[in-house]
Amino acid sequence: MRLSRLFGKTQREIPAEAETISHQLLLRAGMISQVAAGVYSYLPLAWRVLRKIESIIRDEMDQAGGQEVGLPVLQPLEPWQQTGRARSFGQTLFRLFDRRERPLVLGPTHEEVITQLVSRHVQSYRDLPLLLYQIQTKFRDEPRPRGGLIRVREFTMKDLYSFDVDEEGLDVSYRKMLQAYRNLYDRCGLPTVLVEADSGAIGGKDSNEFIIIAESGEDDIITCTDCDYAANAEKAGTTKTTIEGGERLPMEEVSTPGMTTIEEVSSFLGEPEDHTLKAVFYVADGEFVFVVIRGDLEVNEIKLQNALHCFDLRLATEAEVIEAGIVPGSASPTGISGIRIIADDSVPAATNLIGGANKPDTHLKNINYGRDLTADIVDDIALARAGDACPRCRGKLESAHGIEVGHVFKVGTFQSERLGASYIDAAGESHPITMGCYGIGIGRLMAAAIERNHDDKGIIWPLSIAPYQVYLCPLYRDDSNVAEVAEKLCSDLEAEGIEVLFDDRRESPGVKFNDADLLGIPLRVTVSPRTLKNDNAEIKWRSEKDSEFVPLNDVIPRLREMITEGTGTS
Ligand SMILES: [Zn+2]
Repeated sequence: MRLSRLFGKTQREIPAEAETISHQLLLRAGMISQVAAGVYSYLPLAWRVLRKIESIIRDEMDQAGGQEVGLPVLQPLEPWQQTGRARSFGQTLFRLFDRRERPLVLGPTHEEVITQLVSRHVQSYRDLPLLLYQIQTKFRDEPRPRGGLIRVREFTMKDLYSFDVDEEGLDVSYRKMLQAYRNLYDRCGLPTVLVEADSGAIGGKDSNEFIIIAESGEDDIITCTDCDYAANAEKAGTTKTTIEGGERLPMEEVSTPGMTTIEEVSSFLGEPEDHTLKAVFYVADGEFVFVVIRGDLEVNEIKLQNALHCFDLRLATEAEVIEAGIVPGSASPTGISGIRIIADDSVPAATNLIGGANKPDTHLKNINYGRDLTADIVDDIALARAGDACPRCRGKLESAHGIEVGHVFKVGTFQSERLGASYIDAAGESHPITMGCYGIGIGRLMAAAIERNHDDKGIIWPLSIAPYQVYLCPLYRDDSNVAEVAEKLCSDLEAEGIEVLFDDRRESPGVKFNDADLLGIPLRVTVSPRTLKNDNAEIKWRSEKDSEFVPLNDVIPRLREMITEGTGTS
C-alpha cells in the first residue's frame, strides 16, 4: 500500500476531545472517526487491525470446536421480557418499534436469540455438547460513552455460547474456552490476567474476566502478592480483621456535639474507626434500605445489589433519609422498625461498636449485634482494598488498573428454563440445557493493545495484529537511485507476501520518521543515498532503539526471520 494513496491522514495535534491514549493515537493516526457519541467509523488501517484480531479469534474458536453462525442484530423484545433481561438491561437496551408498532431491540448480546435457536434444533443429549459463536455488531446505550473505543454504543463482539447436558459438561466447555482465550491473547501479543468477576444479580455462577493491565484502565482489580488470587474489585473478597472488643458491655448514650462523620466521632471519643458502625442508606428498586458496615470499611455496591437481588440501586437522598424518620449524622439501626436492614458480616463479628443514637449530637456506645440490632440480610458487602488480607491465603492484596478484554461466565440453566431449551436424556427424561457464554469486544481489544503498547511518539503494534508488518521509508526520493531501489523493494516485498506500507511521499525524513513512529508499524526499512553507498538498507524494530544495516539482497530473508521471531513474542 502506498501511503500517498492511503485513505486517512495523520495529524500532529492531540485532539481535544480524546481523554485516553488509545483514543488520541487512533485519531492522530487517522484510524477512526467519530460519528456520534460512542459511534465510530473505522478507516483502512484500523479495519486491517480489527480483521486480523477477528481472524485470530475465529481460528481459536474453530480449533476449540466452535461453529460459526450469524444471528440478527434486530430482535423481538418478547424473549428479553421472558428472561427478565429487558428489565435488568434497563435503558442500556436500545429499543425501537416497527411500522406495526411491534417492539424490537438492537441486540446488546445474543443469549435470547441463540437459546431459542438451539431449542428448535436440539432434541437429544446426542446433539450436545455444542459450541456456537458469531462475530457480530452489538448495541448498548451506555450512559457515558467514553475513552474512544473503550466504552462505545455500537461495537463488534465475538460471542460464543456453550450448550451442555449438565454442570460437569459446562465445566469442560468452560475450561476449553479459557484455554482458547489464553491462546488468542498470546497470539495477539497481549498479556492478560484472569480474574474472578461478578456475574450479575440474575443468572450466572462462575464468572471470569481477562484483564490487560494498564494505568488508564477503568477496571480496578485486586491481586494477591502471595498466591494467584485475582479478582475484579467489584467481586473481590477480603479476609476481614477480627476486632477484639472484649466482653459485651451495656449499651450507653454519649454526647457527641456537632460530630456526624465516622472520622469525627471516632477521634472525639478516642476510639479507632474499626470500633464504629457506619450507616449508609440506599433505595433498591424503590425500597428504602438501611445498610450497616464496620466504620473502617466501604460498601461495595455490586455486592450489595447481589445481596438484595435488585435491579436498580442508588444512594438515598438526605430528604429520603429524614422522611424515613432517621437523623442524618446520628443514624441508628437500633430500635428501627419497618425498614429492611442489611449488615456486612463485619458487624456480627465485632463487639461493643459505637454508632448513631438517632438523636442529634448523640451516639451509642457498646452496640452488639443480636442484642441491640439484627439485620434482615447479613452478607459480605465490603469493598476489598489494597493491603487487606487475601481471602485464599491471607497474603497481602494489592490493586491495579486494567481494561477488561474478555468476559466468560457460566449461565447455567437460567436462560434455557425461561426460553424452553431442553433435551431428552438416554432414559427419555427432559432437562434444561446448561449454558455458558464467552465474549470479546474486538474494537476494545484494539484500543487496549494501544493502551498497553505505546510511547510518547505513537503506537507500537504487536506484530500479529499490526495493520502492516513493514514500513518502507525511502529518504530523498528525488535521488533516482533511491526511488528505483525503493520501488523494487516494495514490489519484491509484496510478491513475497510481506505486508508493506510504502511511504512514497515527498516529505522530509523528519516527517516520515514521525509518521512511521505514530502509526506504529513494527518494522521500518529505510533506504537513503547514505545506505545505498554501501548497498544497504537500514532495518529497525519500532519497539527498539537500535537498527541494523543489511545488504539489499538480504533484506527480504532478514525480514522473514524477524517476522517469524516477532510473531506472538512482541
Ligand atoms: Zn493469596
